[in-house]
Amino acid sequence: MSDIYGMTQFNRSQFETFWQVLNAKLKEIETRDGLTGVIEALKQEQLDRGFIQDDLSDVIKYRMIKENDPGHYFIVQYNPRRALRFAGAGRRIPPVGSIASNGGCFLCRDNVRWQQRGIEYGYDAFLDSPRGQRQYIIWMNPFPLMPNHVTVGTSLHRPQAWLQSDADMGGFVTRMDEIIQDFLSFLSKLPRYVGFYNGEGAGATIPHHFHFQFFRRTEGQDGFPLERAARQGGEHGSKTGPWLVPNYPITAIHFRGTMEEVSGQLLNVIRYWEGMFTDPSVITANVIGSMEASNPKIFNLYFIPRDKTFNRGPGMVGVIGGLELLGEVVYSTEEEKRSLDRGQVNFDFIERIIASVEAPRARELWSLLLGQ
Ligand SMILES: [Zn+2]
Repeated sequence: MSDIYGMTQFNRSQFETFWQVLNAKLKEIETRDGLTGVIEALKQEQLDRGFIQDDLSDVIKYRMIKENDPGHYFIVQYNPRRALRFAGAGRRIPPVGSIASNGGCFLCRDNVRWQQRGIEYGYDAFLDSPRGQRQYIIWMNPFPLMPNHVTVGTSLHRPQAWLQSDADMGGFVTRMDEIIQDFLSFLSKLPRYVGFYNGEGAGATIPHHFHFQFFRRTEGQDGFPLERAARQGGEHGSKTGPWLVPNYPITAIHFRGTMEEVSGQLLNVIRYWEGMFTDPSVITANVIGSMEASNPKIFNLYFIPRDKTFNRGPGMVGVIGGLELLGEVVYSTEEEKRSLDRGQVNFDFIERIIASVEAPRARELWSLLLGQ
C-alpha cells in the first residue's frame, strides 16, 4: 500500500519538529538547573507520554546480610516489570515508507520514531573535547532499574567495545582515552548520580551502539556494597591509588582523585590489561564511577577487568553488569522470585554469582601493577 497522502513524511516531520521544541525547552532547563534538571524534566515528559511504563513502584528490595556480620550485605532487587523488556518494548518491523537502520538498532535515532510509535524522545547532549565537540543522546530507560535511569548513547552508530580492529594499521586501536574523558565529563555534570560503562561481553545489552548508563542515587542509602567495601579498606589514608577493593568477591580496582588523576591512573591500568592478552578480542571490563557529594572535584572510579568468555552468573537470567558489580543483583522472572521466597538466595549465593564472572587473569593484573 503506498502512502499517497504522504502521511509517513508528515509524521516524520512532526517528530522532528517536536524533538526540536522539546530540546529547546530542555536546553533552557540545562542552563538554569544543569543536566540533572534535564533528566528530571525528560522523565516527567516521558512518563506523561507513556514511554516510561514503570515508575519502580513494583520493585521489592531484599538485603542479604552476611551471617554474623551485619555490616556486610548485598542487595537483591526484584523488578517484575523488567522481565517485559525481553518481549521487546518496541515494534520490530518498520512500516511502509520507513527503513530499519543498522539492523533496527534501538539506540539509532532514525529507528526510534517508528519502533516506539513516536513517543520516545531524547536530549542532545554535547561534550567539548580537544578533538572537537562530541554528541550524545540521553534516553530515558523504559524499564528502569534505578531512579532516573538513563542510557546515554552516541549520536552515531558505533560499537560498544573500546578495542577496535584497525584494517589499515593491522592490530587493534584503543578508544579508552575518549571513553573515560566523556564518562568523567558526564559524571561532573551529574552530582548524586552513579554511572557505568559496561564493555562488550561485560553486561552491555546493546553491543553494537556505544552507550553509558547513569542513575540517581536513592536518598538515604549508604552507598553500594562495592563502595562500602572500598571505604572499609581504609585505603585513603596511606597513599594515592589505585587500591584493590578488599573483601569483595571480584577483583575491583579503586581510583580516587581529581578528574586528571583518576583518568591518568585508570588509563595506565587499562594499558596493562590490554597488554596481557595475545588475543585482544577476549578483553573487556566495567568502569563504574561517581562524583563525591561532599567534594565535587573528587571522583571515585572502579575498574573491573573482565574476560568476554565469563559473563553470566549461575542462577541468573541476566548478564552481570555495572549494577550487579556494585552489589545489587536484579531478578525479574517469577522463577527467580520463587527462589527468593523459598530462601534459596542468601549472601553466600550472591557472592558466588559475582565471583563467577571474575576474569581468570584479574589478580595477575593486580600483581603486575604492584610490581610496576
Ligand atoms: Zn545504533
